[in-house]
Formats: sequence, structure tokens, C-alpha cells
Amino acid sequence: MAGRTGAPDRLMGFGDQIMATGMARGAAARGKRIALGDGRRILWDEHSEQIFRRNPNLAPPGSERDPDLEWMPYYKGHRIYNRRAGNRWVWNSEFHAVPGEIIFNDAERKAGKRYGEGFVVIEPQSAQWKTVAPNKDWGVANFQAVADRLRGAGQRVVQFRGDKSATVALRGVEQMPTTSFRDALAIMWRAAALYIGAEGGLHHGAAAVCTPAVVLFGGFIPPSVTGYAIHTNLTGGAKACGSMRPCAHCRAAMQAIRVEDVTAAAQAHLKQSRAA
Ligand SMILES: [Zn+2]
Repeated sequence: MAGRTGAPDRLMGFGDQIMATGMARGAAARGKRIALGDGRRILWDEHSEQIFRRNPNLAPPGSERDPDLEWMPYYKGHRIYNRRAGNRWVWNSEFHAVPGEIIFNDAERKAGKRYGEGFVVIEPQSAQWKTVAPNKDWGVANFQAVADRLRGAGQRVVQFRGDKSATVALRGVEQMPTTSFRDALAIMWRAAALYIGAEGGLHHGAAAVCTPAVVLFGGFIPPSVTGYAIHTNLTGGAKACGSMRPCAHCRAAMQAIRVEDVTAAAQAHLKQSRAA
């Protein structure tokens, strides 16, 4: 999932863009488009176009003077679901993420099935460059143990792999090449039975394409704010602290989530999707 910048774009805030598509849902049906910005300028960032492509609910930069706009103050540095207080985020408990939507074309739809279907996508690392990374990290060894158990039960388990992706490859887990974050989501949509990973871009993506997930939240951010009802959201029993610094409370929350909990939740989702 590498971008043209050379950095793994999976790790650079796609989740915020996907949440925006959830907030914009239904606008075109009312004859409106949502302008994400400060009321004067539409402020998309380097990830917006890839996620908003072909979405009729969102007005692109340059359309500021069009008559059908509804402004929404949601852009880089100004998200609605949190505000900064010193070294922590204060979560807006009134905010609840709505599943987003990605509008794929026929080629993307077809490409989404090029590796077959019915597999579990697992992602053992998220946002390693962020200072909050340790607070959102369940640990590669734990993800490895879950992958081993699912594979032992006959389940195909894969990891998305962009050209320049720096993420750790789990042993025995099929490394599935993807050409972009969007391509990964097309595969998720068309072919994945389940996603397992941390709170982040891919869990927002899974919700947008209606893929079940087991999401490791831990103690940083509450599932009531950025989680989705169709997913199993595991906090380890912690109340979210929002700390931007490595935090003992968050570490304890992650440690309270057992390999058995994640594996059992995964098996329950897989059983349900096989029955459907
Ligand atoms: Zn904490």
C-alpha cells in the first residue's frame, strides 16, 4: 500500500477520510454536496482524492462558489471527534463514526477478486511513526499467535503488502501485493471474510465495505467514537485516556486482551459469515 511519496500510505490518515464519507452520506440525494473546509476553502489533504473518488456527496477543491454546498468544518488539524488538551486528546462523546463508502468502478471491482475470496486479513502494526503507536500496539507476537491458530483451523490468512510497506510480515501468512490503499479496500470488499487489526485506516475501511472485523482498541480511543457496531471492538476493559505519549494504562489495556479473546471473536464472525 505504498504511495508515490514512498511512505506506506496505509499509515497516513486514511481513516479520517473514510469517516468523512460516512458523514457526507446522503448529501447528493438531497441535491447537496458536502464541502469539507473552513467555510471559505475546501481543504482536502493528500489522501482525500483517493478515498473520495467518484463520490457524489463531496465537493472537490475549486468548487467553493457552487450553489449546492453544505460546509462541514472537518479537515486536517480540525477533526470533529476530538480536541487537543496538552499531551492528550479529549474525545467528543457526542460523535459516533458512521460507516463510510467507497465508490469503486468495474475494474476495481474485478481486481478485488483477483486473489480468490474467503480469507482473513490481519494487520499486526499500525501507525508506527505516530507517538501514540505504543498505545495502539497489541504486539506482533500476539497477532502471530492468532494467525497461527486460525491457520491451524484451516483458515487462509493474509496480510496486505504494498511495494514499500514497512510493516512486519507474520510467519506463514500469505503476503498479498496491493497497488494502493484503495486497491486493498477493493480486495477487502470483494474477497475478505474478516479483518483483524488495530483501530486505524483499515478498520474504517472494513466498515465502509461491510467487512466484519475484530478491532484492537485498547485504552487510547473509545469504540463509541471511532468504532462500528458490525465489528467486535476490544478495549481490554479500559476507559480511553487519549494520551499521545506512551502510556502504562494503555499498555495494561492491550495486555488485558488475550489471544483467545481475539481468536474466539474471529471464529464467531467466520461462522456467522459461512452461515449467511
Ligand atoms: Zn492510556
